Amino acid sequence: MKLSILGCYSATPRALTNTTSQVLEINNHMFLIDCGEGTQVQLRKHKIKFNRIKHVFISHLHGDHFFGLVGLISTFRLLTREADLHVYGPKGIKEIVTLQMKLADSWTNYKLIFHELSSNESQLVFEDDSVEVYTIPLDHRVYTNGYLFKEKPGERKLDVNAVEQANINVAYYRKLKQGFDVVNEDGVLIDHEKVTSPPEPPMSYAFCSDTAYKEDIVTIIKNVDVLYHESTFLEKHAKLAPKTKHSTAKQAATIAKKANAGMLLLGHYSTRYDSLEAFKVEAQEIFKPVALCDDGKTFEFPSK
Ligand SMILES: [Zn+2]
Repeated sequence: MKLSILGCYSATPRALTNTTSQVLEINNHMFLIDCGEGTQVQLRKHKIKFNRIKHVFISHLHGDHFFGLVGLISTFRLLTREADLHVYGPKGIKEIVTLQMKLADSWTNYKLIFHELSSNESQLVFEDDSVEVYTIPLDHRVYTNGYLFKEKPGERKLDVNAVEQANINVAYYRKLKQGFDVVNEDGVLIDHEKVTSPPEPPMSYAFCSDTAYKEDIVTIIKNVDVLYHESTFLEKHAKLAPKTKHSTAKQAATIAKKANAGMLLLGHYSTRYDSLEAFKVEAQEIFKPVALCDDGKTFEFPSK
């Protein structure tokens, strides 16, 4: 699992910082999460191939989380994209995007499929053989969802030497990888554990932005490996958090601790702060495994 931070600051793009957008690579998928203004420039800087993005997950309709979407959709068209593009986001996102395209008499030559969300309960919004994606309803000034990305358990790994020595027909390899015992060419039952090793443990990633402190999400993200939680404010501005429906670094850490997360990534910093180090210091008073996101940073999990 690999996470590329394209932008992680709140409010407005500035000379050296960008608004929210991330790319999560998980089991051969490349999911774009939020799409602030300038996201396509950041994608190019990161050398991320545009045609590998087939799913875009938008948390909410504040500009710093989706103003890059129409531009990206338009660029995909200019690049003669053919693959379908799925966009997940709050109800209304289809109207916003299609109105802009309609008035510009500009239509995509690929299929644009909107999955509009309006539920206040966590929902499964995407699933295939290897990954599930659930919404995480958040508490913000407008309807907002975070997203939980979960790998499904993979197949066991075949020990090539062991299966050959055990005289097992190739036709049974798949069964072994799925955890079944099989009969070899000599009619002997072979224990799958003797010729395979367990798969890598499945990883999970929760993206939670923007939100006021909301303890209800803990049950949805319990035991998540990596939690990104917004931390717009430091303690000295803690009073602003509930008013603006954002969180402090300490609140993000409290959620990480209660959810028993493997690690916490902080982001969505208010642009009023010159240094990010204080976010980490304040969060670590509550929860130790904390890393600061910054534009251009890439994280690999499990970390190497
Ligand atoms: Zn917002």
